[in-house]
Amino acid sequence: MNKVRTRFAPSPTGYMHVGNLRTALYAYLIAKHEHGDFILRIEDTDQERFVEGALDIIYDTLKLTGLKHDEGPDIGGPVGPYVQSERTDIYLKYAKDLIAKGEAYYCFCSKERLDKLREGAENSKKTYKYDKHCLNLSKEEIEKNLHDGIPYIIRQNNPETGTTVFHDDIYGDITVDNSELDDMILIKSDGFPTYNFANVVDDHLMGITHVVRGSEYLSSAPKYNRLYEAFGWNVPTYVHCPPIMKDAHHKLSKRNGDASFEDLIKKGYLKDAVLNYIALLGWNPRGENEIFSLDGLVDAFDYKSINKSPAMFDDVKLKWMNGEYIKKMSKEDFTQIAMPYYKKVISKDLDFTKISELLQPRVEILSEIPDFIDFFESLPEYSEDLYVHKKMKTNFENSIKTLEKIIPMFESIENWNIENIEKACMDLVKELGVKNGIVFWPIRTALSGKKFSAGGAYEIADIIGKEESLKRLHIGLEKLKNAAN
Ligand code: GLU
Repeated sequence: MNKVRTRFAPSPTGYMHVGNLRTALYAYLIAKHEHGDFILRIEDTDQERFVEGALDIIYDTLKLTGLKHDEGPDIGGPVGPYVQSERTDIYLKYAKDLIAKGEAYYCFCSKERLDKLREGAENSKKTYKYDKHCLNLSKEEIEKNLHDGIPYIIRQNNPETGTTVFHDDIYGDITVDNSELDDMILIKSDGFPTYNFANVVDDHLMGITHVVRGSEYLSSAPKYNRLYEAFGWNVPTYVHCPPIMKDAHHKLSKRNGDASFEDLIKKGYLKDAVLNYIALLGWNPRGENEIFSLDGLVDAFDYKSINKSPAMFDDVKLKWMNGEYIKKMSKEDFTQIAMPYYKKVISKDLDFTKISELLQPRVEILSEIPDFIDFFESLPEYSEDLYVHKKMKTNFENSIKTLEKIIPMFESIENWNIENIEKACMDLVKELGVKNGIVFWPIRTALSGKKFSAGGAYEIADIIGKEESLKRLHIGLEKLKNAAN
């Protein structure tokens, strides 16, 4: 068997859509599972769509995610150049070969004529198809037009009868009537090839064995097959991946403001968690385990078990998975990646390691952190109603009592640490003969000013220190007394 060679062939659009990253990942996994080559090719023939800085996003994403390519524009390789805009001569030569074989032809139709054709199709509710007008030009007419410098494009010459069959390893055999095949454009009037032509020429010349891409290209695959056949080339194995949906009716798309890889990272997702999650969008591992490192994926990935049915992008699951990755980190690593989020809301000199201990088991995405911890910096405005908690059986009256009693007990703690603070609280529970909640809830509330907080009463007290704790308890007591009157 030939060495497996796959490629990731992004267009420089300026962002990395989750679907594109999945294509890159699957192409990488298919190659690496078989110890093959993974190639990066830049498809920049749509010059109007060129976006500044777009290449950096592609390189940065591959680097960050560890999808290391074996050949590509930046590192070269035996079948370069790997940027399509540097290969225009190649495409033109191959297009001319097809013309010589009668498999393609020059088309000089004006925009006006094509617009009319399109309009006509629309009015009669038919799918637009070019009418092969220029296929009938005589040799002399063509020569003259070329000589006169009339702008032209080159079209594929598809048969109008019979059928074309192609095989996709995921979607199976698909047969289409040739009458449905449009004479698609191979070379545009600016001399650049279309994606439809360049992908076939490049995949062949670059020795690609498995073409991995989104299912939106499935409907064009019969036309690609006709090109391979016209050239007398072997058709590669097609692996079309299912669409990624945001709900039952809508695809995940940048236009709807849905996440690109960069957006997810900005939102506080970890790259490894995102990559792991993306692997599962359309592929099921055999066992129960869903947490995979990239190497683990290389071992486990069997592309034949990619699903046909659309994959649902599930935020809740992605969050859960991210939380699992956060829990697995070392305390030091977690504190390091959480630090920018700490600094957003905390300027005081607090013990961030202690804060990390509280947060790491609870946080699912890093961007949640500021909300969890902002009260450490300063006590937020809060309503006295927070003291009333049905399950804890707390009300204004017993909360006042708790705070009145705990203040002197805290004042007398000489060595302010978590054990001594906890002991004071438990002593009060005993003294009052009440359930823990009646003591802990009002203290925690007074210290945090929040309904939910990272950490309980004594953990917060320990982190903010004795002086600040007492200050907040006094404020709470005041608030309660005012409310009770
Ligand atoms: N340039 C195409 C895209 O970005 C690639 C399609 C393919 O992988 O063949 O969608």
